[in-house]
Amino acid sequence: MRVAKVRHFGPIESIQLGVGYFGPPPVSVYAYSIDGLLIDTGPPILAKEFMAWAKKQTINQTFITHHHEDHSGNVNPLAAATGTPIYGSALCSDLVKGKVHTCLAQKLFWGTPQYTDKVTPIETNFIETNKHHFELIPIPGHSADQIALYEAEEGWLFSADAFVSPIIKYFMRQESMKQQIASLRKLIALDFDLLLCCHTPLMKGGKDQLIQKLAFFEQYYGQVLHWAKLGDPPHTILKKMGKKERWSGYLLSGGNMAAINMVHSVLRDEGLAR
Ligand SMILES: [Zn+2]
Repeated sequence: MRVAKVRHFGPIESIQLGVGYFGPPPVSVYAYSIDGLLIDTGPPILAKEFMAWAKKQTINQTFITHHHEDHSGNVNPLAAATGTPIYGSALCSDLVKGKVHTCLAQKLFWGTPQYTDKVTPIETNFIETNKHHFELIPIPGHSADQIALYEAEEGWLFSADAFVSPIIKYFMRQESMKQQIASLRKLIALDFDLLLCCHTPLMKGGKDQLIQKLAFFEQYYGQVLHWAKLGDPPHTILKKMGKKERWSGYLLSGGNMAAINMVHSVLRDEGLAR
């Protein structure tokens, strides 16, 4: 089942995109359109659906929140169709130029990442439209190049993949929990009503959910450190914390999406990885 659903959050229009092989998609991703600004471009597997929607939007400029293929997947067809600038962080612009290796699970749900040299590094720490001013806030952790867009007057926070869910069950190999904790603290300090997460947008209660996620990570981090200092290896730590590996996801992703990666992330950030 291919899903391409248009949703509105006040004046912001969005498209929710996802693929399901046995019914509704288990994961989906949102791209947003507001006042001539497009935020993200959806996954390559749904290029047709994304482009059909994008062609109905007024697009003066686009911003890519981070290089992952469910956000940067249709930069090439969008650039060809509109000819308008597409921006991202300097690191995002670099990462999308290279071949990004993704696992089978990612390829099944998002498609194969497309090489592109069409993301221009943004040189300002804001982006402006006719009616709005968006502050660009670096929020590394989920990926090193990730940026949030904050419209202070309206109380809108486009948080990329910094939220997703208050409880996280697996990490991709390169994620950093320490950086995510710092980024969540930054976002919680902002004044906003609407949390425009790229996977789970929330009209209400977004800040509370971010606070819950921060508390979850802080507790998780502390527990890993506690057991690591007693000399336990990563798999024993995971077990002692009462967490289980998600073996189907682990196998389908070749270990790229795994509970144990959360433990490894803490050990790496603390210089305890062996
Ligand atoms: Zn991502």
